[in-house]
Amino acid sequence: MLNVDLHCHSHVSDGVLSPTDLARRAKANGVDVWALTDHDEVGGIAEARQAAAEIGLRFVAGVEISITWAGKTVHIVGLGIDEKNEVLLQGLASVRGGRDGRGREIAAQLAGVGIPDAYEGALKYADNPELIGRAHFARYIVELGVKDSVSEVFRHFLVEGKPGFVPHRWATLEQAVSWIRAASGRAVIAHPGRYPFDDLAFDALLDAFRQLGGEGIEVVTGSHTPDQYALYARVAQQSGMLASRGSDFHGPTESRVDLGSLPPLPANVLPVWHDWAM
Ligand code: AMP
Ligand code: MN
Ligand code: MN
Ligand code: MN
Repeated sequence: MLNVDLHCHSHVSDGVLSPTDLARRAKANGVDVWALTDHDEVGGIAEARQAAAEIGLRFVAGVEISITWAGKTVHIVGLGIDEKNEVLLQGLASVRGGRDGRGREIAAQLAGVGIPDAYEGALKYADNPELIGRAHFARYIVELGVKDSVSEVFRHFLVEGKPGFVPHRWATLEQAVSWIRAASGRAVIAHPGRYPFDDLAFDALLDAFRQLGGEGIEVVTGSHTPDQYALYARVAQQSGMLASRGSDFHGPTESRVDLGSLPPLPANVLPVWHDWAM
């Protein structure tokens, strides 16, 4: 059985490793097919593809697009994209455009609870200032010694109802799916178990996604529990969605799940890679 890992982040967005180091780590961990899916950016794809080719690792170009749906942030992964497509590139640039102002507001809130200079602090961790995000703020808060780990930070800061949370309008669902399709990619709802939707709202998201041409959902991801693997396998099967698998690896000391180390997809689903030539 192929070890397929179709979700992770490099330092081009909010991961810790370079695309080259991720490719090598994936290979060392036994991954056969690997996608890089940086947030709202495809700037790491060329390096990732080259590094993967050099070590005989099959590479899939990807991206994880931030959207706002029903007032909440949802992530849509695009797989097998043409990263040079102008529609996609312009769309991603428009999403990134909002991050700087949001980052400054996050910093202002953190200053109010005694965490100074957080914009500058977070920026040190952001390889690309355009992509400044909550993971970079979290690393700075750990650096200050306010909390011991990034996951601890996300229990006390940066999330809804806590200091450092700034509601933000990302792309729309329609935009994200249309950009991915314009770039010949396959759209997949990332980590569906992480959203604060009830069944009715989630079904509405799935319906809207399907009607726009969305094709899959992540079933086995670093964000799901084993119960959720089974739950979202059923959802995929019943809704006719393809199923994806991805660690969502961000870095060796931060991520619970390493590249290529998740269990395989349940048998009752159709993998998102079922018709890929490989
Ligand atoms: P942003 O796109 O700036 O809203 O940041 C979202 C990113 O923050 C995610 O992709 C993760 O990298 C990180 N993140 C969000 N929630 C958590 C959490 N509970 N634990 C660790 N990282 C998180
Ligand atoms: Mn992230
Ligand atoms: Mn995500
Ligand atoms: Mn991710």
